[in-house]
Amino acid sequence: MRITRRTLLVSAGAGVLGVLLASCTPEPAPSPTPDPSSTTPAPEPTAPSSLEPSAFVRSAWSEDPFSLGAASFTPVGVQQSARTALAAPVIDRLFFAGEATDEQAPGTMSAAVRSGISAAEALLAASANGDRVAIVGAGLAGAAATARLASSGLELTVFEARDRVGGRVQSHVDDDEWPVSAQLGGWLVDDALDAVIDWPASLDLRTAVLSGALWRSTEGDDVEPVSAKPLTEAITTAQSRVTDESLTEALTEGGADPDDAALQALLAYLSTMSGADADQASSWFPPVLPPIERTAVLGDLAALFEELLDGAKVSVSSPVSRIAYDDDGVSLGVATGESLSFDRVLVTVPLGVLKTDGIEFSPALPFAHRGAIADLGMGLIETVWLRFDEPVIETDASLWHVVGGDATIRTWLNLAPATGENILVGLVGGAPAGEFAKLDDDAAKTAALASLTPFLGSTQSPAA
Ligand SMILES: Cc1cc2nc3c(=O)[nH]c(=O)nc-3n(C[C@H](O)[C@H](O)[C@H](O)COP(=O)(O)OP(=O)(O)OC[C@H]3O[C@@H](n4cnc5c(N)ncnc54)[C@H](O)[C@@H]3O)c2cc1C
Repeated sequence: MRITRRTLLVSAGAGVLGVLLASCTPEPAPSPTPDPSSTTPAPEPTAPSSLEPSAFVRSAWSEDPFSLGAASFTPVGVQQSARTALAAPVIDRLFFAGEATDEQAPGTMSAAVRSGISAAEALLAASANGDRVAIVGAGLAGAAATARLASSGLELTVFEARDRVGGRVQSHVDDDEWPVSAQLGGWLVDDALDAVIDWPASLDLRTAVLSGALWRSTEGDDVEPVSAKPLTEAITTAQSRVTDESLTEALTEGGADPDDAALQALLAYLSTMSGADADQASSWFPPVLPPIERTAVLGDLAALFEELLDGAKVSVSSPVSRIAYDDDGVSLGVATGESLSFDRVLVTVPLGVLKTDGIEFSPALPFAHRGAIADLGMGLIETVWLRFDEPVIETDASLWHVVGGDATIRTWLNLAPATGENILVGLVGGAPAGEFAKLDDDAAKTAALASLTPFLGSTQSPAA
């Protein structure tokens, strides 16, 4: 696998979900899972006085007008085929790509790349040499499409709304504050991504393998690793029913209590991957449980985009506000006031932008496209990066979970075992991510630090 050849360190220790998915009985069992009925509503969070990060940075994708969310998901009752409907070209003038158009692994970086390549190939097949082609959006889908179309005899222009390329992949680079790039969007890579991308030699290919899990009660006790078995069994049963139901409904019908603190912690983790809450997500097309080990990119991913976009004219700070099309061509209205003509356009903007009429189409898109845009869900995920001078606790576990209580952030990635740097990455998904995104930086930092309270004050080994 190309990107892992310079992997920093493979940490030892079993990843908890893999163990659980294999239906093993977890051990040891230090103390019982807390009873959710014993938890009391928490007042405004206060940060522990012993914790003061030396660096802090966070995302706010839910509020960002050029994403309006983090990742598409399939809501209960919606067919995955809505994604193919969204990807369908319109009279060979408009083409669509982006993670939301991919049925295989929506909401991921591999989906974005795969969709970009596939749409580029469809566009190429419909084009003549010298055609003027606009690509709207310079995220992974737009960049992968551009790379596929470069040297194809087309005249390519990329319009990007933000003042940077990369979209929902964003490496925050600050050598004074961050020894590794703080990744505010996609950064956990897998074989599926490796299969569709050629990592450029110019990319800082440092990666870290994150493994080993720690499950803590709000009282600071280790609790049993939470079993995914009730969830996987509920999904399996729900998939044989005649109508789709939400994960929450599937769990309830399977005899599990979705309000159980342990299950809530697992569902919170799941929503940091999909952006959906359990009562929104389909059990016919459920979010995928993360693998036991995650590979994280530590370097600056901007180099990837520079390489992929080479060969096209890239116009940043150029939000497209209108796309008018007919049998003869396409006219793009850019928020700067310009109106430009092209033979074909590839639209890669996020589903969140399409859902809020961020671009006016004239004529309106076909019903199948509009139906898909309305039906698919845009999930919310936010991340917060904290660097400390000292370790918060000594542990080999890279994945921390808070069980019980009402911590804003229940899922943490600890980069210390793999990198030696005291960096904790908080992940929050679903409705709590929307609330977190609305906080100002001070309140977000306080909420993040308060969420770490269960991990203070002891030395632990990863749970098996
Ligand atoms: C916090 C977070 C963590 C994630 N973690 C992972 C992970 O670890 N692994 C993984 O595989 N995936 C992850 N993802 C998902 C992954 O990042 C996305 O699926 C992928 O980057 C989407 O690429 P895209 O090209 O489809 O969309 P985008 O990257 O959103 O690109 C679309 C582009 O269109 C631009 N645009 C929007 N409106 C306009 C307009 N009107 N005119 C012109 N341009 C416009 C946007 O600015 C953007 O650059 C994560 C996402 C988030 C938010």
